[in-house]
Amino acid sequence: MKKPKIVILGAGYGGLMTATRLQKQIGANDAEIILVNKNDYHYETTWLHEASAGTLHHDRVRYDISKVIDNGKVEFVKGTAVEIKTDEKKVLLEKGELEYDYLVVALGGESETFGIKGLKEYAFSISNINSARQIREHIEYQFATYNTEEVKDDTRLSIVVGGAGFTGIEFLGELGNRIPELCKEYDVPFEKVKIVCVEAAPMVLPGFDPELVEYAVAHLEKKGVQFRIGTAIKEGTPDGIIVAKGEDDVEEIKAGTVIWAAGIRGNAIIEKSGFEAMRGRIKVDENLRAPGHDNIFVIGDSSLVINEEINRPYPPTAQIAMQQGELVAKNIAALIQNKDLGTFTFDNKGTVCSLGEDDAIGVVFGKKVVGKKASFMKKMVDNRALLMIGGASLVAKKGKFNVL
Ligand SMILES: Cc1cc2nc3c(=O)[nH]c(=O)nc-3n(C[C@H](O)[C@H](O)[C@H](O)COP(=O)(O)OP(=O)(O)OC[C@H]3O[C@@H](n4cnc5c(N)ncnc54)[C@H](O)[C@@H]3O)c2cc1C
Repeated sequence: MKKPKIVILGAGYGGLMTATRLQKQIGANDAEIILVNKNDYHYETTWLHEASAGTLHHDRVRYDISKVIDNGKVEFVKGTAVEIKTDEKKVLLEKGELEYDYLVVALGGESETFGIKGLKEYAFSISNINSARQIREHIEYQFATYNTEEVKDDTRLSIVVGGAGFTGIEFLGELGNRIPELCKEYDVPFEKVKIVCVEAAPMVLPGFDPELVEYAVAHLEKKGVQFRIGTAIKEGTPDGIIVAKGEDDVEEIKAGTVIWAAGIRGNAIIEKSGFEAMRGRIKVDENLRAPGHDNIFVIGDSSLVINEEINRPYPPTAQIAMQQGELVAKNIAALIQNKDLGTFTFDNKGTVCSLGEDDAIGVVFGKKVVGKKASFMKKMVDNRALLMIGGASLVAKKGKFNVL
């Protein structure tokens, strides 16, 4: 009998978790498992703000996929998926195509600019290793160029971060550490540097405990960050951004670097392939399947799961993607073995938001933590993700042990 073919698209947190759990649950004779990813490496998306600021080398953020999968059970295909043909049970890749019996869509998310003019053209987004490398180099270039010009242009040294959510705040925390280093390296007076965070919502880190938010804002302000809260970015331009507070209060903020960190949507392939989606994310059923497709599971940033307590979607996180990956591995094994499927319940272990190398805020197992203790917890969370996917040897190679 022909072995069922399982294709997993994406080797991020969700996809790798699915692959590494499936390889333990299914014998090589029971199914063919194929993992497809753009690159032959996995990157820790949750560490990209560090690589972007230049506080952690990008090679520390990534590792070879072949090192964490059982190559005897999982075939790795380096390729870019471009469309899913559900009627034909096929995935089109940039080069070639793959047939599947079961499909796991774990392609992550993309930056959402909400149609704001000029952002796609002129702002960076912290999305992958390439963009992180580009942001780091761009900021460094601005500092390196500053003193070479006869007429010094201070706006080169201005950095605007659009969005005071998780990604924006973590990036600002890293900048707080990196900017003094850059000033020293390039003989730039610290007072010439301007870091502005623009947020349309009335508060920083919406959804976080207000006391923790206050702590984070005070910490970042001490490091030189200026917050413009309740202010919307209206346009990105070659020289910076245009913002508005209310109808008439329009202002230009000139900046050599603009980072857009305020929105995420599902992978473009979702909509291109004809799935019903909300901002590119598929509202999955209780077994994590796409509605109407019993053989297609969708996880991570491309999926949408409602938190019934507040009737709003859970924010897309690595934590939820990994838990989904674990269940999807079990559910595919169950389908192959004609067993009942499990249902998904998110087990929220807490959230820690880093504020740079040695500070953070968070709620862990229902308790608030700040400062060095929170920063220690953050490193443990980062190490746990490595442990779950690649075991102790991966933690030894890539783990964070610089506990202060
Ligand atoms: C700076 C930053 C900090 C964050 N901090 C946290 C945090 O502290 N805690 C937390 O829980 N979450 C955090 N998040 C969110 C978290 O990183 C995401 O929710 C998580 O990565 C989603 O996992 P995923 O498996 O869906 O996608 P990803 O981990 O992004 O993986 C998607 C994979 O698919 C591949 N891929 C994409 N398109 C294609 C294609 N067409 N063909 C083939 N391969 C493709 C990509 O290369 C990638 O390997 C952070 C995000 C950012 C950007």
